[in-house]
Amino acid sequence: MKLQEYQGKELFKRVGIAVNEGRVATSPEEAEAIARALGFPVVIKAQVLVGGRGKAGGVKLAASPEETRAQAARILGMVIKGERVEKLLVARAAEIAQEFYLGITLDRAKRMPVMIFSPAGGMEIEEVAKARPEAIFRFHVHPLEGPHPYQIRNLLLRAGIDKGLQSQFASLFNKLYQAFTQYQANLVEINPLALTPAGELVAVDAKFIIDDDALPRLGELASWRDAGSESPQERAAREAGLNYVKLDGNIGIIGNGAGLVMATLDLVAALGGKPANFLDIGGGARAAQIEKALEIVLSDPQVEGLFLNIFGGITRCDEVARGLVEAWKKLQAKLPLVVRLTGTNEEEGRAILEAQGISPVREMEEGARRIVELVR
Ligand code: GDP
Ligand code: MN
Repeated sequence: MKLQEYQGKELFKRVGIAVNEGRVATSPEEAEAIARALGFPVVIKAQVLVGGRGKAGGVKLAASPEETRAQAARILGMVIKGERVEKLLVARAAEIAQEFYLGITLDRAKRMPVMIFSPAGGMEIEEVAKARPEAIFRFHVHPLEGPHPYQIRNLLLRAGIDKGLQSQFASLFNKLYQAFTQYQANLVEINPLALTPAGELVAVDAKFIIDDDALPRLGELASWRDAGSESPQERAAREAGLNYVKLDGNIGIIGNGAGLVMATLDLVAALGGKPANFLDIGGGARAAQIEKALEIVLSDPQVEGLFLNIFGGITRCDEVARGLVEAWKKLQAKLPLVVRLTGTNEEEGRAILEAQGISPVREMEEGARRIVELVR
């Protein structure tokens, strides 16, 4: 689960990381009231879950009530990388002498968290990482030991951080690591981490991705999911216990088992098609779940064809066929449909489909080829 910046900053505050104080507004008037209470200048920031808000014009400073209202009105309703802005964070503008980058993520290859730091933080960090990789510093953290003081000192030394600032940085590294573990994150990021002219470190931005599987252990955090930032399909899938990920293409994909669905996406893409989604109905799905899955995929207006790829093991082909036939009738679907069905109760399943004029294929590649041609 990705958190909005204002939510991430709330967690930062709980572990003692300084942030620039702010509150959420949903209208220009509210933004103005918050700004007046905080004092000027303020920064007005689109609360969306995509990066690059600054470059898209979704982060603006305002020095007066009038400017706050005008900027808030402009940013509310903007669409940034497909996400409509419905909330703003109005925060006291930090004075920035230098922008740093500090993040922690999981290095899956090493099976350890990795701490990443750069004295060249800010909006160009991706470019810095490409053009000047030597300006990015990192060390791995042993998950049972946490970051050792010598690792932090060594990194700060290599990064050329002033002696006078090192203990402040070290304390911040430790607090961020605490946030990372306490809230079971896959990623935490402060970019920019601002050094003020007065020599204080302030988290001006917050990015937080929490491991979904940890949410049941995290109490109230589970309810922080931002309803507005989830597509109707994603929401319905989550509520039905289905694994669904929206993609950009036009071929709906449903299969049983994450590996099979991923292989299906790859195959369809390799044959020139564009998958519209990932949807894994899991093992042993019953007819009702198949119906739900179809409903979700077909409610995406971008979908122009559907490929259902079932390898029956625990999942029974006749159950899948029954669910498919029911849903197809109920939804009055008229799109091209390709079904690949093999495995447990295959013959029963095929008979059900053939009675409805649907003839399933046996091989995955044949099915992928067919749906790509039908949608083209
Ligand atoms: P992002 O572009 O989505 O990562 O949004 P950020 O919160 O990182 O803001 C983008 C840029 O706006 C930052 O890199 C800063 O340069 C600038 N900015 C954001 N907040 C402040 C602030 O409080 N004071 C000042 N002076 N600049 C800010
Ligand atoms: Mn940022």
